Amino acid sequence: MVGTAGTTGTGAIDDLQGLADLCALNPNDLWFHVDGAIGAVARCSTRLRPLFAGLERADSVAFDLHKWLFVPYECGCILVRDGEMHRSTFAQPPASYMGRTEENIASHEEILFSDYTLELSRGMKSLKVWMTLKAYGIEKLGQIMEQNVDQIQYFIELIQQHPTELEVLATGSINILCFRYRLDGIATDTLNKLNGQLLLYIAGSGVGFVSPYTINSDTFAMRMCIMNHRTKSSDLDFFLEKLLEIARGLRQMPEFSIVKS
Ligand SMILES: *Cc1c(COP(=O)(O)O)cnc(C)c1O
Repeated sequence: MVGTAGTTGTGAIDDLQGLADLCALNPNDLWFHVDGAIGAVARCSTRLRPLFAGLERADSVAFDLHKWLFVPYECGCILVRDGEMHRSTFAQPPASYMGRTEENIASHEEILFSDYTLELSRGMKSLKVWMTLKAYGIEKLGQIMEQNVDQIQYFIELIQQHPTELEVLATGSINILCFRYRLDGIATDTLNKLNGQLLLYIAGSGVGFVSPYTINSDTFAMRMCIMNHRTKSSDLDFFLEKLLEIARGLRQMPEFSIVKS
């Protein structure tokens, strides 16, 4: 069973306690894995931690440090609760050239990381994580995550100040928001097309970058994800102003003036 601690599209979080209960229930005894690529690191923040209650009951958790822990690309991690099972899955009888013998430098107590993954040759990705934690500390990193979440809330308020032109489509409780430009009386397909164009024009303008997302298989959304410690609320004001400017220009084009019959 896989639960998600923050979906890519909207930042929605599964009921991890409920899933953990279901997995533990006799005779299920299911392996409970959590995809925490985005959200797991938000446990750094005491304010955000309760959103992910139940994560600690997972049999395995995968998460990315290059997303919300601000570590340079790329650095993914997986934790497996049962260390022996983990090792016995990947470990092979030691090759003689690995130097794992009684007489050699590496004792058999020494951890060989290749016993825990598919890789033998591997880079020391942990260094940048360790440096990040040493330089900023968990508390500060948690504060920046809270700031990003607050900025999404701020942008939602900005959207709500323009109800005839903008609408929120979906949001979880973290740093991701799906929204779109709207017009009364416009057909769904045309509105999707307008928003698709808008997204490209925004990217082309260099003002900001929102990614495309489809909700309920038919609704085109612009997806905003804030995970930068330098983002300021004035950046969001500016982004909204430019977005409206571009959208108001676009909707003048004849292809977008088709009114629903
Ligand atoms: C980014 C992401 C992934 C993929 O992670 P990679 O490190 O790119 O392999 C998986 N699940 C979610 C929820 C993600 O956001």
